[in-house]
Amino acid sequence: MTGELEVLREQAETELRKAGSEEEIQTVRTRFLGRKGLLTGLLRNIANVAPGDRPQFGKDCNEVKEALAARIDQVLAGLEASRKEQIILRERIDVTLPGRVVRHGRLHPVTQIREEICRIFAGLGFSVVEGPEIELDYYNFEALNIPKDHPARDMQDTFYVEDNIVLRTHTSPVQVRIMEKTRPPVRILSPGRVYRRDSDISHTPMFHQIEGLLVDRGITFGDLKGVLTVFLRQMFGKDTALRFRPSFFPFTEPSAEVDIRCVMCRGKGCRVCGQSGWLEILGSGMVDPAVFENVGYDPEEFTGFAFGLGLERIAMLKFGISDIRLFFENDLRFLEQF
Ligand SMILES: [Zn+2]
Repeated sequence: MTGELEVLREQAETELRKAGSEEEIQTVRTRFLGRKGLLTGLLRNIANVAPGDRPQFGKDCNEVKEALAARIDQVLAGLEASRKEQIILRERIDVTLPGRVVRHGRLHPVTQIREEICRIFAGLGFSVVEGPEIELDYYNFEALNIPKDHPARDMQDTFYVEDNIVLRTHTSPVQVRIMEKTRPPVRILSPGRVYRRDSDISHTPMFHQIEGLLVDRGITFGDLKGVLTVFLRQMFGKDTALRFRPSFFPFTEPSAEVDIRCVMCRGKGCRVCGQSGWLEILGSGMVDPAVFENVGYDPEEFTGFAFGLGLERIAMLKFGISDIRLFFENDLRFLEQF
């Protein structure tokens, strides 16, 4: 073997040892074995070799060439093998480890109650509508027959944004907004957040109400009783006893509060019902003619009823929760129970 060939062979071996990646190895291959590679160049110069030595020279060159090609393939295979081994090591799974619990999200109890109520009323032909939480004084009070000096304004501790703009204290303004835009018949249900300056075990500054309104020709207090009875029996059980108590709201006349037989003590008297055996569930009444006049309905032609209830209160009764503030603390230990 000529000295030159031997030098090339050693050079290739040294470079191969240094090559760490497939790309570097392929570079070595091109550099020595490529069409313009060093080894090929050497063979091309066979003319400079003494004629007698040419067969041996050619043979040596080809041997080195084949050996080098085989060596490169071997190095590449080794590289591939160690790459696979690393993947296997990296992705090794210890099947004896305990499984990870998949945490399921669930609906907030207040949302569950809202959906249930909406579902029941959908079955009675009501559709769900929404209104703004930041509301004009006019819609929150004035249009609902609660003028500026009306004592009913003291019943609700209002958050004022500006003189004439409030955080709505109830969902009732939605009735007015809908009636302004629609002609009867109206059958709507309006769930949403409301705000009052109040905070204790049974009050939070923000809570949820659902307002219902039905207006048409010939609607009577009997319709009010029928609809609310169907609703409360679907909500609390078909044997639920109800009673309607005369009450007062500025935007309904006559008005009634509706109680159900206490779900905790079945009427015997307990702490939850204050020993009365009854639970106050919602407020309702026949829409006051003054409200109809404000929205351009003729009170001689149309009558209707409205009702409103607090979602947290219903959720507390259904799930047996004693402190309303628990709903808004976002404690997973609490929320995961529903
Ligand atoms: Zn009770």
